[in-house]
Amino acid sequence: MTEQEEREYLQRLQARVEKIAADFPEKEGKDIVRAYAYAAEAHKNQRRKSGEPYIMHPVAVAENINQMGLDAESVMAGLLHDTVEDTAVTSADIAREFSPAVAMLVDGVTKLTQMEHTAYSTKEEQQMEDLRKMFIAMAKDIRVIMIKLADRLHNMRTIQFQKPQKQRDISVETMEIYAPLAHRLGMQGVKWELEDRSLQILDPVGYKEISDYLEDKSHGFSAFLEATKKRIEEKLEQVGIPCQVKARLKSVYSIYRKLYGQNLSFSELYDICATRVIVKELTDCYNVLGLIHDIYKPVPGRFKDYISTPKPNGYQSLHTVVIGTEGIPFEVQIRTEEMDHRAEYGIAAHWKYKDGLKGSQKEEAFAWVRQLIENQQDTDATDFIKNIKTDLFADEVYVFTPRGDIINLPQGATPIDFAYAIHSAVGNRMTGAKVNGRIVPIDYQLKSGEIVDVITAKNSTGPKRDWMQIVKTNSARSKIKQWFKKERREENIAEGQAVFEKELRVNLLYEPFQQPELQAAILKRFEYPSLEELYAAIGYGGVALNRVIGKIKDEVMRQRAAEAKEAKLEAKLAAQAAKQEKSTADSGVVVEGIGNCMVKFAKCCNPVPGDPIIGFITRGYGVSVHRQDCANVRAAKKGGEDGRWIKTDWVMGERHHYHASIKLTAKSNVGLGGEVLMQLANMKINVSEMTARDTEDGYCDFYLTIGVTSKEQLDLVITRLSRISGVSEVRRMVAGG
Ligand code: MN
Repeated sequence: MTEQEEREYLQRLQARVEKIAADFPEKEGKDIVRAYAYAAEAHKNQRRKSGEPYIMHPVAVAENINQMGLDAESVMAGLLHDTVEDTAVTSADIAREFSPAVAMLVDGVTKLTQMEHTAYSTKEEQQMEDLRKMFIAMAKDIRVIMIKLADRLHNMRTIQFQKPQKQRDISVETMEIYAPLAHRLGMQGVKWELEDRSLQILDPVGYKEISDYLEDKSHGFSAFLEATKKRIEEKLEQVGIPCQVKARLKSVYSIYRKLYGQNLSFSELYDICATRVIVKELTDCYNVLGLIHDIYKPVPGRFKDYISTPKPNGYQSLHTVVIGTEGIPFEVQIRTEEMDHRAEYGIAAHWKYKDGLKGSQKEEAFAWVRQLIENQQDTDATDFIKNIKTDLFADEVYVFTPRGDIINLPQGATPIDFAYAIHSAVGNRMTGAKVNGRIVPIDYQLKSGEIVDVITAKNSTGPKRDWMQIVKTNSARSKIKQWFKKERREENIAEGQAVFEKELRVNLLYEPFQQPELQAAILKRFEYPSLEELYAAIGYGGVALNRVIGKIKDEVMRQRAAEAKEAKLEAKLAAQAAKQEKSTADSGVVVEGIGNCMVKFAKCCNPVPGDPIIGFITRGYGVSVHRQDCANVRAAKKGGEDGRWIKTDWVMGERHHYHASIKLTAKSNVGLGGEVLMQLANMKINVSEMTARDTEDGYCDFYLTIGVTSKEQLDLVITRLSRISGVSEVRRMVAGG
């Protein structure tokens, strides 16, 4: 970009910001423009991967936020959202320049961003823990997550500038976390776009197949949709109901799920398009429904009233499927303007219109986030995320109490889930259930519209442990866990210990687990103060048994591998040592059967390494080494002195002792020095020097110089010395260190 081009580019951005500002009262509008100027200055020298000035990203994010219908604080936070992460600006600066509320929002978004960055590089467990933190942060102020969604939306729109692997990582995360979150917040428009863009990266072939199909059909569809629209508008005009009729094709991903999830073919897809009738008054919704069923024949069983029973994310609408003039079934959604806006932007839609939603309603709109987190207090990070994913993805069924109250449950929920959804006390006393008046098994899967009657008994002995495997909702599961945790501690410990030990035996881990160090490591890993607590947790289901067993297995394997390596090394060193015991001094020659004797090379033949050699023992003078073909040897052998000749050989490469210095730090303790020396003696290590020095903090440093034959032997020495109780560190000293 030339300077001139860049100036014009920034002017266009400024104009876009002023357009956002115009949607707000004057004072707030001014703050928004000021936030833009501040962010533009902070990001001045930064570029997006596309090469454009960085500030284009915060502006696009702010536009998304404004479109969602969030307040001025959120728009400002959108403009400033990357300043704390990527520039010298601090959160204190933002609090001072703008407001603590804006600073708090930026802070929340920054934290989420940082988590994302670590999530790619660290192991799965860490990622889970980070996500858990994210959900907790979210519960504090849900605007943080909506700003994050606006950020993600723009990043998905510009994802082509990332490297392919990064594109996939971001898309997986978007599909798994952000799209379901958008769904849960009722932001359908955001959800569809995130899904379609992720799908395009994750399955480009599948995506293209569907979009080509839609493209291909779009002409036919648009004629059909036009005709339908006209017909409905005319009919409603006759009866004097003002309305707006919109028609659109469904999202690529929703079709993708039908094709691959429900295994349908293109010809079996009939509700590819949705027609929406938007009216002013709520009562008109039902009138319009009647009129539509008048002109088109409804498909039985496809009518849904989400107005009287909103979806958990707040979505409200009437849905019906009718058969069009050419026999093509299509879906009609009927709702008010307000419901329509909310369907697109969910609870975000309430922020700007302060009168739209009272504080308490706003609370209620995202009570599920709090609930989700409260239900999860007792689970670890991995389960937490798994549970959140199931909660986010669950399709709902609607069932009734005998008094006609509606209870909303995920698909696959059982009467136990129903009972716990009414009240913990109902669940805890449940002994059976009736559906539409008939007794059903407790693992029966409820269907929408059924009337469920829970049978309870005052003297019930409480829930059964296997219910935890049967229930579908996490809230029922955690309530059952709670019950066992509270009511049955002794039983939990006994039960937990029994299943744990059985599982240990099955896995041949019972013996290995008896080591105190291993037990301590496992308790520490799962954060239980004692074995009893671990048993209790296994008993009430606070920790999954297979995860504990898995960790023990890992730990034992690790230990065994280390031991095996050590044993192998030891054997090798022992073999070397044995060989050396045969040897003489440092001459480079081995004399079979004799240790530690003096060796000298015979002057008559001057053997050099590689020559076949033989030794001649002279009492009091050690061994003299000759070449085997030396004339003196032949002469002496002939002279009948055979008994004094001895086999000798060169030692290649293994004979060099070298000195190593090590430093050992230990808790000051009388007798430790002796123990160190004893350990070294056992290993046949020669110690040439040892000094000790007390340090101020109650520790003692030992400096040792030892003779070793190899690096491997030195490593073994260090491992062995580290094991001495009280020793905190052993390391090799290098010159100058
Ligand atoms: Mn960003």
